[in-house]
Amino acid sequence: MTYIHDTIVRLQKTSPAQAEFYQAVEEVLDSLQPILETSEQYKRHAIIERIVEPERQIMFRVPWVDDQGNVQVNKGYRIEFNSALGPYKGGLRFHPSVNAGIIKFLGFEQIFKNALTGLPIGGGKGGANFDPKGKSDGEIMRFCQSFINELYRHIGPTTDVPAGDIGVGAREIGYMFGQYKRLTGNYDGVFTGKSLLWGGSLVRKEATGYGCVYFAQYMLEAKGDTLAGKRCLVSGAGNVAIYTIEKLYQLGARPVTCSDSSGTVYHETGINLETLKELKEVRKVRLNEYVTAHPEAKFIPAADYPADGNAVWRIPAELAFPCATQNELSEADAQALVANGVIGVSEGANMPSTQDAVEVFLDAKICYGPGKAANAGGVATSQLEMAQNASMQRWSFEEVDEKLKVIMKNIFLSASGTAAEFGEPHNLVLGANIAGFRRVADAMIEQGVV
Ligand code: NDP
Repeated sequence: MTYIHDTIVRLQKTSPAQAEFYQAVEEVLDSLQPILETSEQYKRHAIIERIVEPERQIMFRVPWVDDQGNVQVNKGYRIEFNSALGPYKGGLRFHPSVNAGIIKFLGFEQIFKNALTGLPIGGGKGGANFDPKGKSDGEIMRFCQSFINELYRHIGPTTDVPAGDIGVGAREIGYMFGQYKRLTGNYDGVFTGKSLLWGGSLVRKEATGYGCVYFAQYMLEAKGDTLAGKRCLVSGAGNVAIYTIEKLYQLGARPVTCSDSSGTVYHETGINLETLKELKEVRKVRLNEYVTAHPEAKFIPAADYPADGNAVWRIPAELAFPCATQNELSEADAQALVANGVIGVSEGANMPSTQDAVEVFLDAKICYGPGKAANAGGVATSQLEMAQNASMQRWSFEEVDEKLKVIMKNIFLSASGTAAEFGEPHNLVLGANIAGFRRVADAMIEQGVV
């Protein structure tokens, strides 16, 4: 399609070297073909030209002092992508791979994900190329404080509300909130993912993983199947992976893998959740230590992965939950999953499957829940945290979990209903992209050229 080609060429010129961002834009525009071809008004209002351009991009220096007294410098970002539906909302990622292209791809995806939840939240994302691994608590705190010394002027409970992502959990949110409060004097709901002691919501920590499993459950239910007894592959060993595994057990499934950047654990009788939490939430160590506690499990080092993909996806299973990072599931991995009889894939991570891998899933007509639909439970529960903060209320675990289930069900119904409307009932990529896009685009039109 020429408009996809033209848009990507324009972005390559105006925003050079942002491969992941082009990938995310191409995937969305590809899905939008059926409505862009028939709707004059989206063209007339230059919606595509406007929606791929962030409303505001903030990039800044983050200087801090390490434990040896040396000055370190990182690069910080906040991309305020689209506020048609509400305040910018999206996480902060601290990882050495972070650059403008990664944050823009995440922010772009976030626009449609947030729209799909049906809640009043716009799309944004941020982070820094800071590596929290091996840093002391004091170093993490000083980094977070320096990051907020710049970011505080751009965020607020009704303007831009950051949360966590890779490398940013309750500890980092605590340090950032503390510095924000010191600088502004405001005690407000400027962050989500806060500690339960001071304004956090029950279920927020679990929400992305739980939501991703609920999404799988709804995809299977629509085919008359359930999660009970299913063998599942999970990648990652962080927040999303851990609570995906927890919910899989609660619903009677058997997760047999988890992974981190050092390798994959394969435990045939099922991943021991207690050990995993101890290693990753308490001791924060590498996953190879898992086999010390469970010698019957196997650890596959990342160095031994196949050249064209990731060992975790080569293990036979019925369901797969990519919960680590972008592009962690290649075309060859997708082919291996399908050849091994996978019936469903629900993405906890953002854009974990390459575009070629997605094509393999769609061609095989398996249940495929793209990240922007399947992992939206995290941001949806963040919005529930904002609602509780704004009304000074605190809801019970059961109350929030029930709302999360309803939101995930509605996202599934919205994506599958829209997919059916456009004659491709199994294609939730198309359904999610069109459903999310329509809500944002129509709001943009009503708000004029801004
Ligand atoms: P965490 O930092 O808690 O965990 C990330 C996990 O993925 C770690 O086990 C990490 O291993 C692994 N990982 C990261 N990068 C790589 C890599 N390049 N290769 C192999 N493994 C890798 O992050 P989250 O669990 O919060 O986030 C995981 C994914 O879910 C991300 O894509 C995020 O954007 C997405 N997401 C998160 C939400 C949330 O609420 N937290 C909401 C929606 C989406 P290691 O420690 O060795 O690097």
